Amino acid sequence: MLPYDLIILGAGAAGLMAAAHQRSRKVLILEHNSRPGAKIAISGGGRCNITNQNLSSSYYLGDPKFVEKVLNRFDNEALIAFLRHHGLEPVVRKECQYFCPDRAQALTDLLLRAAPSVEISYETEIFGAQKPGELFVVETSKGEVYAKKLLIATGGLSYSSVGATGIGYEIAESFGHGIVPLRPALVGLTLQPEQVWMKELSGLSLSVTVQVGRRLLEGDILFAHRGVSGPVLLDASLYWNQGKITVDFLPGRRFKSLFGSSAKTAASQIPLPKRFVKAFFSALALPNIPYRSMREGQKQRLSLLKSYAFAPAGTFGYAKAEVTKGGVATDEIDPETMQSRLVDGLYFAGEVVDVTGRLGGYNFQWAFSSAVVAAKSV
Ligand SMILES: Cc1cc2nc3c(=O)[nH]c(=O)nc-3n(C[C@H](O)[C@H](O)[C@H](O)COP(=O)(O)OP(=O)(O)OC[C@H]3O[C@@H](n4cnc5c(N)ncnc54)[C@H](O)[C@@H]3O)c2cc1C
Repeated sequence: MLPYDLIILGAGAAGLMAAAHQRSRKVLILEHNSRPGAKIAISGGGRCNITNQNLSSSYYLGDPKFVEKVLNRFDNEALIAFLRHHGLEPVVRKECQYFCPDRAQALTDLLLRAAPSVEISYETEIFGAQKPGELFVVETSKGEVYAKKLLIATGGLSYSSVGATGIGYEIAESFGHGIVPLRPALVGLTLQPEQVWMKELSGLSLSVTVQVGRRLLEGDILFAHRGVSGPVLLDASLYWNQGKITVDFLPGRRFKSLFGSSAKTAASQIPLPKRFVKAFFSALALPNIPYRSMREGQKQRLSLLKSYAFAPAGTFGYAKAEVTKGGVATDEIDPETMQSRLVDGLYFAGEVVDVTGRLGGYNFQWAFSSAVVAAKSV
């Protein structure tokens, strides 16, 4: 059998975008699902948050210089121009996020249309790859296939229910690449027994600021049965590995100005839902008395409304995580080409690489930017 010019591993966001931008003659995509773009279909509430008006490396975890070089070569404007050229007009929601106007499937259909000559082998499990000579040999459930170049676009470990596996990391490692430790990210955080009071607030959402490391993030926290979630906590999970995170439940308000010397109970003066205030007071053993009557220690405990620090126990895990942080180390990849610095003809794109974006369309933008850079250089 004649070798392919290029084999792409994975028919997800990055693999399909690479296929739509490659100029090789004989290209094969290997995919174990029976359909392409499984994560595109379930993303953004079924409408896929494709990208964001505000794009820079500061929205990513990873080497900022590396990220910037790749994004600059195919940025949000280039992505939108590409989509428009192929008949999809994204809509802006939540002020700055671009979504598909209707179903996310339209994006996958567009990518398939833009790569008409590419062969896709579905229901084909990838087991591994080697390069014993000039050619790459990919081992699959349907036998071996050969290629001059190989693009790894198999994504991360999150959501194995729609096809995620760690095969991309395994293949990269087998070629000598380092893997930055993998962790679930954009995921809810579980709590220690001392924070059990938060679980009792399941379903409640509040606007807060969260400090994690040196990052200050704002947005909604959602109290959940398993722990804490919501957009701001999902973003916080990107930067959290261990240690404490600190929540300000009253962002933009000065603590002391809430109470003055009023004779009203402190609880009744806190501009937060009663259910929250009741749980907070009970967890911190605070009495239902005016602020002016509180002892110093009680006042200090109450002021934790502005800086409640706690160490999460862990995360909700890969099954619930939107992405996997960590991945193939970027110092071994050339950002001008997305080619391995270790193995000639080996390329990477998408989530398998050690670059992870915040909520808001940043992960698809990364998948698409890195895929276009790789495809053009192939
Ligand atoms: C619920 C959810 C919602 C999300 N919403 C958004 C959003 O709105 N905006 C955003 O920017 N990001 C979102 N993301 C993240 C985004 O989906 C991913 O970052 C993006 O899909 C990564 O693209 P990729 O091509 O690298 O990997 P994927 O899209 O995961 O593609 C990898 C492909 O490789 C295939 N594959 C894996 N292992 C094998 C194997 N052994 N054999 C054969 N095939 C294999 C998989 O089946 C898959 O088709 C969301 C993720 C989830 C889980």
